[in-house]
Amino acid sequence: MPQKQPFAAKFALRVMIPSIVAASGIAALLLYIVNGIFDETNRLDGEYARRSASAAITSIRESLGPVVENNAVWDEAKAHAYGNSPDAWLDDNWGRGSASGVYDAAFVVDADGTTIYAAHNGKRLAVQAEVFFGDEITALLAMLPSDNTNFGKASGLIKSSEGLSVVSAGVILPASEGVKLPATGPRYLVLSKAVDGTLLATLSQRFVLDNLHLSFDDVPRDNSQWITGPSGKRIASLVWINRGPGNILKVKYGNVVAIVLAMFLFVIAILIHTSWRGFREAHASQADAIAASIRDDLTGLANRRELLSVLKACLAEANPGGLAVVYADLDGFKEVNDSYGHEIGDLLLKSAAAGFAHLAQGSDLVARLGGDEFAIIVTGSDAYEKSRFIARSMIAFLSEPMIFGGRVASVSVSVGIVDLDNDQADVEEIIRRADVAMYAAKAAGRNRLHIYERSLDFKRDENRAIARSLREHIDSGSLTVVYQPIVDARSRRIKGVEALVRWPKDTTRHYTPDVFIPVAEEFGLIEDVGYFVLTEACRQAANWPEIFVAVNVSPIQFMNPGFADLVEKTLRKTGLDPKRLEVEVTEGFIIDNAERANAVIGRLHDMRVGVVLDDFGTGYSSIGHLRRFKFDKLKLDRSMVVDILRQPSALRLVQGTIAMADALGLAVVAEGIEDENQVSVLRLAGCSQFQGYLFSRPVEAEKISAFLTPESLAASA
Ligand code: C2E
Ligand code: CA
Ligand code: CA
Repeated sequence: MPQKQPFAAKFALRVMIPSIVAASGIAALLLYIVNGIFDETNRLDGEYARRSASAAITSIRESLGPVVENNAVWDEAKAHAYGNSPDAWLDDNWGRGSASGVYDAAFVVDADGTTIYAAHNGKRLAVQAEVFFGDEITALLAMLPSDNTNFGKASGLIKSSEGLSVVSAGVILPASEGVKLPATGPRYLVLSKAVDGTLLATLSQRFVLDNLHLSFDDVPRDNSQWITGPSGKRIASLVWINRGPGNILKVKYGNVVAIVLAMFLFVIAILIHTSWRGFREAHASQADAIAASIRDDLTGLANRRELLSVLKACLAEANPGGLAVVYADLDGFKEVNDSYGHEIGDLLLKSAAAGFAHLAQGSDLVARLGGDEFAIIVTGSDAYEKSRFIARSMIAFLSEPMIFGGRVASVSVSVGIVDLDNDQADVEEIIRRADVAMYAAKAAGRNRLHIYERSLDFKRDENRAIARSLREHIDSGSLTVVYQPIVDARSRRIKGVEALVRWPKDTTRHYTPDVFIPVAEEFGLIEDVGYFVLTEACRQAANWPEIFVAVNVSPIQFMNPGFADLVEKTLRKTGLDPKRLEVEVTEGFIIDNAERANAVIGRLHDMRVGVVLDDFGTGYSSIGHLRRFKFDKLKLDRSMVVDILRQPSALRLVQGTIAMADALGLAVVAEGIEDENQVSVLRLAGCSQFQGYLFSRPVEAEKISAFLTPESLAASA
């Protein structure tokens, strides 16, 4: 059978994985977008920071420009700066100024770059500007006009011995009109200030750049701006700490995002969970529905539908190997059900089902087809042997009576087996054949196994026709009963009669009881036939004086727990003295159902109805059984009667049997007596009654009265 995808896997594949993928996708997209926003915020902020840094650098660079202009364009400055050697005025003004904090170094240089005056932090210095500032100062001074007709100034950032310095230089000129300049070249005032922490802190605040500081390596960074000297050379960089507002947002809103994400995932999880439950419920109800559709409610075995589908699957297999179907029908179940009730009937079915399932372990399927029918599919190379073994085990299993609440329920089982040969039979045909084989087992006396063979089909068709027509005869009351006298061995007077059922004479097809009684048993008509014969026989016998009437009782009737009651009712209804009724039963059935049989025999005895063991000497015959069961009479079968004249051993057997029966207090009747030799031998052996064509064939009831006078009996002899 095809393996079904486990339902959890189905759920995972159809719901969970797609949901998780979708949810993860959405979550990832969300994170990506949020991150993108944060990163973009960071990038933009970085861009603004860089611009601010540029502005900050420009603003530092130009910071001394106005100071230089104020100091350089000054009449007094012109008067003292152009002297041959520095004078006290320079010290008082620019020397002292270099300690003011506005600038920290002041130089006066001429157009060649030669330093005329230098002061640093309020003290005069003997150092060349080129040495103090380095080469870059030359580039800065080169930006100034080389004559002193016009004012000019230049500012720059220079890497000095002090670190980074803001340097501004301007042409020293008189402020007043008409003050003559010397004919020599121009002199320049150079003021500088080291870019220190204080300045950077001020800039930080002004330009909103965190932790501004300088770096003198040439490593490019996201958070720095190059500072170029007057020559255009990179001399340092201004570094700040990117606040990364995106990062701040991340920190600030990260929790919010996390919560939103968590809520989203929670909702997804709930959705998955809900759909899981829905899915599971749907699956469970689907599974229940499937289970219910393939299970038999009462026994839990597979049902007919499942049997058919599994069988179909087995047949569809490319290389089916051996296959056998065991088909079983309980014998006597209806009787148990009718007399003990459905509850016990159900218990019995459950027990049988459990037993069969156990015995059929290793088979492919055990099914209850409804009612008391079961079927087992056996496959594999050993299907042939296995199926027989299972069938025999089933028969043995039910041979023990079951006890439910103190009630003994005895059933047996008729089993048919069909083997799948090389012919291509379909499912319906296999079931039909199994059914035919099972019915053959029933017809052969139940409680046995029958294997399907072709010839059964013809028999079955015929039997079905017989059953159909028998049904009609039962319904129309056209069956009849004939009576065969049973005579006293010595006096040859009629002692009783055996009632024998007859198919109506005037029908086109006529059947003897040997043929239609098994059919009646097989097709469930025997109860009706038996009841008809019993009633009819009792009714007739009640009209006769003294003589007993023996009625054949089919095992199926005898097994019916309601049988004794039926007999009692019939006797009461017909008014026949129970002492005058005998029931004839066969041994095989009695032995299979010993306990039940004894119980029924006991009840019949209580009513004073006689019980005759019919057909002794055939099949199961055993003297031992005579002890076990309290029969009143033993009926020697015709086959034994025939044999005594031909085989000495048969005679000895009959003699021994009669002696034994005698000792047990049983009367012995011999049937099938056709000649006087049999009479003499059997009378000597101890037979007390005879029945046979020699005395009379079975006759209509009206003709029995003729036997009731001593004269008529003498005449026929
Ligand atoms: P059975 O119970 O053994 O009945 C005796 C059978 O032997 C009868 O056959 C009878 O006609 C036949 N018979 C009697 N004397 C002679 C004889 O001298 N020679 C020969 N060759 N046969 C003799 P019948 O009536 O055909 O019945 C056949 C069987 O059908 C019966 O065998 C009995 O088992 C069954 N049967 C008949 N009537 C009923 C019935 O009402 N109920 C049931 N359950 N079974 C019945
Ligand atoms: Ca009989
Ligand atoms: Ca008989």
